[in-house]
Amino acid sequence: MYKRIFKEIKKYDTIVIARHIGVDPDAMASQIGLRDSIRLTFPEKRVLAVGTGSAKFHYIGNLDKLENIDNALLIVTDTPDKRRVDIASFDGFSEIIKIDHHPFIEKFADIELIEDDKTSAAEIIMELIKNTKLLCSSDIARTLFIGLTSDSNRFLFDSVKASTFRIVADFLEEYPFDMYKAYQDMYARPLSEVRLEGYMGHNLEVTEHGVGYMKITDKDINEFGVDSGSPGNIVNSFNFIEGVYVWVTMTEDVKNENIRISIRSRGPVINKVAEKYNGGGHKFASGARIKDFDESMKLINDLDKELEKYLKSKEEE
Ligand code: AMP
Repeated sequence: MYKRIFKEIKKYDTIVIARHIGVDPDAMASQIGLRDSIRLTFPEKRVLAVGTGSAKFHYIGNLDKLENIDNALLIVTDTPDKRRVDIASFDGFSEIIKIDHHPFIEKFADIELIEDDKTSAAEIIMELIKNTKLLCSSDIARTLFIGLTSDSNRFLFDSVKASTFRIVADFLEEYPFDMYKAYQDMYARPLSEVRLEGYMGHNLEVTEHGVGYMKITDKDINEFGVDSGSPGNIVNSFNFIEGVYVWVTMTEDVKNENIRISIRSRGPVINKVAEKYNGGGHKFASGARIKDFDESMKLINDLDKELEKYLKSKEEE
């Protein structure tokens, strides 16, 4: 499959790389890492990484404007379904390739490389580079490292395997970059967010079976001087609380008139529950957009039931 994708890349003069809406570091790193690798390998090609940017992820790199697209190849990274591809139009593309690590949702591309056992889309791009004639540099290796590290929550998630460390070690050796500096770029954060984290921990509520949930209103957002994306950035900090196996942030997003939901689990599979609420994601890391806090509590109840089933099944083992 890697070789087949390389062959398609070779064929096109213009290649556009898109990823999902609500950009996160892996979505951005996988598209920018791939763009820069194709540019390095084929300097004559026009290769664009497109989508809505985020000032917060400026350290990953710059995005391009989508203009004059005709007979181009579209590569979509880190996105399982067409509705979440961050692109204004699919016109002008002769072929689509999907490169993703989410569980399969729908086929929308001509070629689909789905490896849902991988930590990140960035890890798949690393494999693609390793297994083809695509070139890499220290900058590209750093970008992909950021995507992988972020989506594996610093090598903490269950998607991390020996092969993950191996590919990171290989890239570090072959294309050395300042890993310590990359960690600072990724994890340095404003004091306001740290204070918000304290508030969230203080106000965390726990259901009967161990779903922890944190409600953050627009008033809280303004008082702490953060934005509605901040609680979602903090959600991973609430891993490993004894007795809390699933945890959720529910953040009022006044601009979009909905509640932003981030869910994490170290027990039951949660993406099927998220899908019921117009969301989705990975087995143990999902998100959704919900109309109000009342509806959010229904989600919490559903998660609690899922967790109850999970705990019972563990008892029976
Ligand atoms: P987050 O909690 O925003 O970091 O998202 C965790 C995972 O869930 C990521 O893989 C997202 O792509 C996915 N996800 C987040 N929000 C949604 C949504 N509204 N619909 C489908 N998937 C989502």
